Amino acid sequence: MGKILELAEALWKGEDDVYSHHPFGPPYGTEPIAEGAWFNKGFANTIIRKTEDGLIIVDPGGFFDSRNKFDSIRKVVPDPLHTAIFTHGHTDHVFGVPQFVKEAASKGCSRPRVIAHEAILDRFRRYAETAGWNGVINGRQFQGNADQPTWPDQFSTPDITYTKSLNICVGGVDLHLRHARGETDDHTWVFFPDIRLLCTGDLFIYAVPNAGNPQKVQRYAGEWAMALREMASLEPEILAPGHGFPILGRDRVCQALEDTAALLESLQEQTLTLMNKGATLDEILHAVKIPEKLSRRPYLQPVYDEPEFIVRNIYRLYGGWYDGMPSHLKPAPEQAKAEEVARLAGGADKLAARAEELLAEGNLRLACHLADWAYLAAPEDTAVRRTAGRIYMARTESEQSTMAMGIYLSVAREMDAEPENELLQKGYLIRAQSAREKGALGEKKHVKNQETMGGDRNG
Ligand SMILES: [Zn+2]
Repeated sequence: MGKILELAEALWKGEDDVYSHHPFGPPYGTEPIAEGAWFNKGFANTIIRKTEDGLIIVDPGGFFDSRNKFDSIRKVVPDPLHTAIFTHGHTDHVFGVPQFVKEAASKGCSRPRVIAHEAILDRFRRYAETAGWNGVINGRQFQGNADQPTWPDQFSTPDITYTKSLNICVGGVDLHLRHARGETDDHTWVFFPDIRLLCTGDLFIYAVPNAGNPQKVQRYAGEWAMALREMASLEPEILAPGHGFPILGRDRVCQALEDTAALLESLQEQTLTLMNKGATLDEILHAVKIPEKLSRRPYLQPVYDEPEFIVRNIYRLYGGWYDGMPSHLKPAPEQAKAEEVARLAGGADKLAARAEELLAEGNLRLACHLADWAYLAAPEDTAVRRTAGRIYMARTESEQSTMAMGIYLSVAREMDAEPENELLQKGYLIRAQSAREKGALGEKKHVKNQETMGGDRNG
């Protein structure tokens, strides 16, 4: 058994955890996963299936790692690429085809084709329209603004698109492609019935589903859950996820799919019940709870996205942008609010001092509000800025999800704070690895923290 499957086994049994092995992190490499099938674990995963006519490759690579993936795949299987499938249009999944095209041309083989859901075309158009914005938000999300924003401007458009489902046969191997809205509106999941191999794309990522992302377009929790239930009904033997570790064995695969569906269903049901009673977004965010059993599952930890963010996206899908707080309907500028609060407090320095007290008490949520007002009211005041920066750096280190850490770290940097931790400096936002380096990782603290989502885990 290779390192990836060994770790997958240890994670399932609770002998290790995703706080030490983030779904996007190492080990990277290619391992056999079934007869004639390989799993390449990278930042995003790639699944390779051999057929008599050449390879089928699901998600050939990202725009930053497709060369490594190509080399890793070529070490284990030399066959030409016949068909590439993009599970969705995110940039960590839709690159790598040009390498195979070049290789095919140099060997005189026919050009490989690409299949994807039809909505991927609109996504690529939107990416061209919003390239600057996407560079900015991804720089925050993944690197805490460690580097200059970058975003690709060339995408491999599919040769074949489909609407609802597509069944094909390549070199004697049957495969079924199904569309579902979930993380994106252009998602495809793929099932190989002969070996019962399920490629979920990002509909499963060995973590809380990315259904809440604070900086990105709408996600679809309810339809996502239905897709996971449909996958489970096929009784797959192997789950090859879009990120993170594979799951082997029919019972385990069904459990993981159904638990993930149950989490999304529970968040949706709780949110809608409260919305139907006329609750405000604020009331909903602090009332919805994660079912305790699910919060302990190794594959449902909030290391990338968070349930709290998913609730916001459900509210956004069914409601408008008004959050129920009357002053938010037509608000004063943030700076004017900050100046008024600072005036009442007796100065921005008083706000900053109170923020530090709250930090010391462990109430980081409230400390951050005061830090915002203090910084906005006196952006040129070095002492205030440093205090605000310290508070946001503490917040970064207290968080568990890539998304919260990335956003808070970019704010801390804006306030001239730099992380001491080397992994954070690189924007490598993996909590346990950074915490473990400092010797700060408590015994299974994260499990306790998660039992209530609305209850403030930072005090
Ligand atoms: Zn992805």
